[in-house]
Amino acid sequence: MIKGTFPIEQFQRVQTPFYYYDTDLLRDTLRAINKETERHEGFSVHYAVKANANPKVLNVICQAGLGADCVSGGEIEAALKAGFPSNKIVYAGVGKSDWEINLGIDKDIFCFNVESISELEVIDELAGKRGKVANVCFRINPNVGAHTHANITTGLAENKFGIAMNDMEDVIHESAKMKNVRFIGLHFHIGSQILDMGDFEALCNRINNLQDQLERHRIKVENINVGGGLGISYGHPNHLPIPDFKAYFDTYAKKLRLRHGQKLHFELGRAVVAQCGSLITKVLYVKTGAFKQFAIVDAGMTDLIRPALYNAYHRIENISSDEPEEAYDVVGPICESSDVFGKAIDLNKCHRGDLIALRSAGAYGEIMASQYNCRKLPIGYIKEEL
Ligand SMILES: *Cc1c(COP(=O)(O)O)cnc(C)c1O
Repeated sequence: MIKGTFPIEQFQRVQTPFYYYDTDLLRDTLRAINKETERHEGFSVHYAVKANANPKVLNVICQAGLGADCVSGGEIEAALKAGFPSNKIVYAGVGKSDWEINLGIDKDIFCFNVESISELEVIDELAGKRGKVANVCFRINPNVGAHTHANITTGLAENKFGIAMNDMEDVIHESAKMKNVRFIGLHFHIGSQILDMGDFEALCNRINNLQDQLERHRIKVENINVGGGLGISYGHPNHLPIPDFKAYFDTYAKKLRLRHGQKLHFELGRAVVAQCGSLITKVLYVKTGAFKQFAIVDAGMTDLIRPALYNAYHRIENISSDEPEEAYDVVGPICESSDVFGKAIDLNKCHRGDLIALRSAGAYGEIMASQYNCRKLPIGYIKEEL
C-alpha cells in the first residue's frame, strides 16, 4: 500500500499517542487557497478555529493572512493570542454568553454572526453599556440540505441554527432601530464534509433569491458570508492531499450574483487542516481472537473521537512494517465498545511497538480530545519541532 512519509526516527523519541502536523502540507494548502481567492475580487477566507486550535497550527494559518471564524469566547482568545488581527475575526454561535459578547465588543471584532432576535437585543444592550457599536451579520437558515452525515448538516429548517428566512427582513428592520448595532451582512453555513459542488450551488441560488427580495425593499447588504463545509478525501490522503479549491471557489464565482462592491467571506475549517494532521499511536498488543485479530493501540476515542461519534473513516497505516498485509480490527484501550478506529483493516503485519498513523486527523481531532479514563491529552507536534 502507498503510505504517507513520516520521520519515524524522530517519532520514536516522543511519547505516543500524539498528533503530528505536516506544516509543509499545511503551507501548500494555504497557498492553494490564496492562489484561488486572489483570482476573485472581494473574496476572503476566515479559518474556522474550531477545527483545530493548536497554537502552532493557528500561527501558520495566521501568517498566511487568513482571518479567523470563532464559535466561542475561548476561540476568540486563542485567535488573538496566535496573532489574528481582531478586525479579521468573525464570531458565530447559537448560544453566546454575556462575557463572550463583551469580549467581542471590547476587542472590536469584525462582526457577530447573530442567530436570533433575542441575541441581537443583548448585543445592542451590552454594546450600549460600553458606548460602542457592534457590527452584526444575520445568520440565515437557508433550508438547504447537504449530502453529508445527518449530524453535520446545519442548514435545514429543522436544525437549531440561524434565523428563518421568513424573519430575515423583520430582523434587519429591528436592527435599524437599535443604536448600538450596525447591520453589515448575511451569514450562512449549510454543513460539513461537503464534496458535491451542487450543494454549494443550491446555497448560491437561495442567496440570489434572498438578495433580490432585499433589493426590492432597498435593503443594502455589504457582506455575504457563505460559511465553510468543503470536504476532503478521507479515502485517499496520499493521492489527494489538497482539496479542490478551484472547483469550490469557482462555484461561488459563477453561481453567486454578488452586487457591486460586495465582499464574499468563507469560513473553511476541515479543508484547511484535516490532511496535514495524523494521530500517531503505538501497537500495544496483537490479540488473536476466534475469527479475527485485533491490533490494540495506545490511542483511543479520547484522542480521536470521530470514528466513535459519527462512524467516521480514517485511513490507517502501519508505518513501521513492510511485511505482507493482514486484516485487523484496530481498537483503543478505552472502556467503551465504540472505541474502535476501524474493522477488518488491511495493515502490514503488526507487532508490539509498531507505529500506526491515523490519517486525515488534523480537523476535529486534537481539539475534541478528552481526559475520560483520566488519560492525558495528546500533544500536538509540528514538523519543525521533531
Ligand atoms: C463548523 C463551522 C465552519 C467550518 O466548517 P468546516 O466543515 O470545517 O469547513 C464554518 N462556519 C461555521 C459557522 C461553523 O459552525
